[in-house]
Amino acid sequence: MSYWSWYRGGLSHTGSGPAPEVERGEVIHLVADGESAANALTRESIEELDGLLDRIAVESAVKLVLLSSAKDGHFIAGADVERIGALTDPEEAAALASTAQRVFGKLGELPFPTIALIRGTCLGGGLELALGCTHRIAVDDPRTRIGLPEVQLGIIPGFGGSQRLPRLIGIPKALPLILSGTRLPARAAFKSGVVDAVVPSEGAIEVGLRAAVGLLADGGRGVRRHRQRARGSLIERAIAGTALGRAWIAKKARQGVLARTGGHYPAPLAAIDLVIPATTRPLAEGLAEEARVVGELVVSPVCKNLVGVFFASERARKLDGPAEGPEGRWPAGAQLGILGAGVMGAGVASVALDRGLSVRLRDLEEGPLLRGLGQIARDGERKVRRRRRTPREQEQLLARLTHTTDLQGFGRCDAVLEAIVERMDIKQRALREIEPSLREDCLFLTNTSALSVSELQAAAELPERVVGLHFFNPVPRMPLVEVVAGERTAPWAVSRAIGLAQALGKYPVVVQDSPGFVVNRLLMPYLDAAVRLLEEGVPGPRIDAVARGFGLPMGPLRLIDEVGVDIGVEVARTLHEAFGDRVAPSPLLEAMAAEGWLGCKSGRGFYRHDGKSPTWSADVSKLLPRVGAADRSDEEIITTLVDPMVDEAAHCLDEGIVETAEAVDLAMVMGTGFPPFRGGLLRHADDSGLSAIVARIEARGGARTPSELLVDLAASGATFHGAGLSPADAIGSA
Ligand code: NAD
Repeated sequence: MSYWSWYRGGLSHTGSGPAPEVERGEVIHLVADGESAANALTRESIEELDGLLDRIAVESAVKLVLLSSAKDGHFIAGADVERIGALTDPEEAAALASTAQRVFGKLGELPFPTIALIRGTCLGGGLELALGCTHRIAVDDPRTRIGLPEVQLGIIPGFGGSQRLPRLIGIPKALPLILSGTRLPARAAFKSGVVDAVVPSEGAIEVGLRAAVGLLADGGRGVRRHRQRARGSLIERAIAGTALGRAWIAKKARQGVLARTGGHYPAPLAAIDLVIPATTRPLAEGLAEEARVVGELVVSPVCKNLVGVFFASERARKLDGPAEGPEGRWPAGAQLGILGAGVMGAGVASVALDRGLSVRLRDLEEGPLLRGLGQIARDGERKVRRRRRTPREQEQLLARLTHTTDLQGFGRCDAVLEAIVERMDIKQRALREIEPSLREDCLFLTNTSALSVSELQAAAELPERVVGLHFFNPVPRMPLVEVVAGERTAPWAVSRAIGLAQALGKYPVVVQDSPGFVVNRLLMPYLDAAVRLLEEGVPGPRIDAVARGFGLPMGPLRLIDEVGVDIGVEVARTLHEAFGDRVAPSPLLEAMAAEGWLGCKSGRGFYRHDGKSPTWSADVSKLLPRVGAADRSDEEIITTLVDPMVDEAAHCLDEGIVETAEAVDLAMVMGTGFPPFRGGLLRHADDSGLSAIVARIEARGGARTPSELLVDLAASGATFHGAGLSPADAIGSA
């Protein structure tokens, strides 16, 4: 099946007006319509374009080429990520990059202007193709997103993007776009100079063609002026115009990348080295270097791990759930009821409003309700300040929010989520109270962190509609949601809850109803190991620093302060009851809770939180048997922290709490920030060697002995991901 098609077109005479600038037959429409819904580029589609451009080049009576997509919502969403993941030979990858660079370059060398009309996603290779054209026009459609997100997959733009973008919009503008992978909406792409015009979405091809003619009408003067303006102020351009200025830009960028990534991601650093000389060296030289570098990066373990996380997240984003058909589908334009306007309730409300849902929020009294409404307003204002939303849009969004202190107005909701205090009796009472006013097909969702969904169900008139939907704090930033079916939950309810999570832009992972579900259950042994290291005399700030050096966003002791020492004790007790001594609550945490050192919320925990940044609290040492005496290598510290998590994950897989190693990895990356470049917890365990983990757990002694599954895998030389514990189709299909 061919990817490209082309036909001749043009503008027709309208009545008695003057002849149009491009008459019928003078425009070549080049249309991308590949096999994949997102028009993913493949080697074949690029080679096909190569041949096609040779034919088009000799066509006569052509005034311009208009390149567009036949797909709904996508221009060209990028290169085929599956193929990227499969590349193992750096030279082969570099050769493919060189071919794409050459073919995209041809677009700009045709004897007539080539204009990309971009509607929908235009990312990675899609934008690199458009950058090969002489001009770009974006359609002002909410789905239009334009950017070079390659670094997020551990590579760099390799089809010419690292060279052509800085040449178009200047180094100071291009570098942040490439380093962040930002996806620009149409108007922002115009402002930054990536595109030359924006057109309204009605009648896009006809309107686009007129705009294209307009761009060319004045001999290109308007386009040149716009591009010049977009490159920034005179000073910005002057800085980027000198070797010293470019060295300064590079230094700042490198510092920023290292602060963000701890040096674990080679791609952004490589991108800086490529972008900085892009405007001063010959294009061919820059492109050759780009191809060589992308060839090396694409075969690196970091790229493979990031591609693995990408696919896991794509599968979660498209996950269907057990019930197919309309009854399992989350309806469009739905209404969500939320009980509890606390941290979590208000957080979910913010996200739901942002995603176009209507929200009815309830709290018991005006005080907490107003605090919650304040949080929602602040979340929105932050977006307005960052220009992600206009003041008018913020106003319209808030018009979809209603609030109450009673039980009125929930009859129209498609789901009600309870985010009230973590007590079974109170949650059951809230369910009993509201159930009579709910429609029969309205879901009742619980955001409980650790309580049993099945037990909550016992209080329900219609238990089949009760589902756990466990969000993480802060809700607007944390992408994971654990979806928990109780014993009596109906398949349709699970499917709808998954649909709701997806509608909120979250990644659902289905887990069974068991204390701590997956993320908190795995996190506790890790936090506990940190406390034990401290008790053995390893300095606390060192433990946290080593964890951050491993790539975790925050050290474990600092994380306990964030979660709350009392909550930590509470969760540990619950897990202890369920799973025995291998997750016993630590006496140190209990002592701290008794002192009232609860972490951030009380101003003091392991750290003091009264200054600008937290400082280690010397008082903790008073509760410790030994202080700062033990010597452990970084390797010993990190394995002491991570091994128990791996072992607990093996228990979860063995008990069927979660189905696949891939789901564990996604949950830990999205729910705890486990370093994505390591591919997730179990990918990391596989790479480190399972028998070494077993040996270390045994050598440490204590209440934790390695789980049967971990021992079996290690003994047979198998891995979590290779042992049928990661069938890609078990959590849906990409
Ligand atoms: P919170 O204390 O900030 O808010 C709870 C709110 O619920 C309070 O404003 C309270 O007045 C209100 N409330 C109590 N009973 C109510 C009722 N019957 N109807 C309406 N409102 C009622 O608590 P939170 O941190 O937002 O946690 C809420 C739930 O989410 C808990 O089950 C918690 O375990 C879970 N959770 C919390 C986090 C977290 O990090 N905070 C993370 C995941 C899950």
